[in-house]
Amino acid sequence: MLTEVPREALVGVACVLGLVVGSFLNVVIHRLPRGESLVHPGSHCPACNAPVRWTDNVPLLAYFWLRGRCRACGARISLRYPAIEAITGLLFAAIAFRHGFVPMLPVWWAFGAALIAAAFIDLDHQIIPDEISLGGLALALLCVPALHAASGGSFASALRDSLGGALLGGGLFWLVGFAHARVSTALGRQFEHWPGEGERLPSPRSLDYWLWFPGVGFGDVKLLAMIGAVLGPWGVLQTLFAASLVGLALGLAWAAATRSLRAPFGFGPALAAGAVLVMLRSGVAL
Ligand SMILES: [Zn+2]
Repeated sequence: MLTEVPREALVGVACVLGLVVGSFLNVVIHRLPRGESLVHPGSHCPACNAPVRWTDNVPLLAYFWLRGRCRACGARISLRYPAIEAITGLLFAAIAFRHGFVPMLPVWWAFGAALIAAAFIDLDHQIIPDEISLGGLALALLCVPALHAASGGSFASALRDSLGGALLGGGLFWLVGFAHARVSTALGRQFEHWPGEGERLPSPRSLDYWLWFPGVGFGDVKLLAMIGAVLGPWGVLQTLFAASLVGLALGLAWAAATRSLRAPFGFGPALAAGAVLVMLRSGVAL
């Protein structure tokens, strides 16, 4: 029986798997927004380009035996690499502990990995690649109902939940972004990416009018649609609530630390953190 896997063993395997996936997420976070291949070339030092031997590529541990420095040139390796590996290892273990050995487990792991990648890419570049948000949305719409059916549930009702969650999540954020852009336009407010002198604001006949939201970001709309496809409509609402609290806490911490209200991060990382909390807390109906 599937359910007879001892939980301690499952959590241990999940942690190791998470460390390895976290190592890959470091590559994704660095290369995906730059449009580089995820497989070629192999890992190399960003300072001296020396290839990293596979023994120095062991997640988390290599950082310690290399003492945080490149073996070839001695350049310091960012603490972020082992940190992302550790976060992914812990998250995979927590998911396995919370959900046990169920058919949905690979989806929860993939979902967690996608959220970590989305959060850190958004932190670095203020974008969320379509490969993660739309790719994840398509995968979730396929896999979630199928695995729900595999665990004895109804395929149709799970598909309805997935589609409903995606539409509600994407729709709610689209509405926020659209209203914000139109109100900002009416008030004459300017943004960094706002059309400059000589450029005109988009008119309702152009697609930009409907899909171009300075300040809010269409990436968040697509991310929340993906989150909705996994967590369902109720999960999306819980995610928004949790993300608001996380975003508020992050914003306040930033304001207190820097005495500035202009935090250099968007809502993407808070959304990802909110979705992780909801996934770990409820596991939802699925
Ligand atoms: Zn080097």
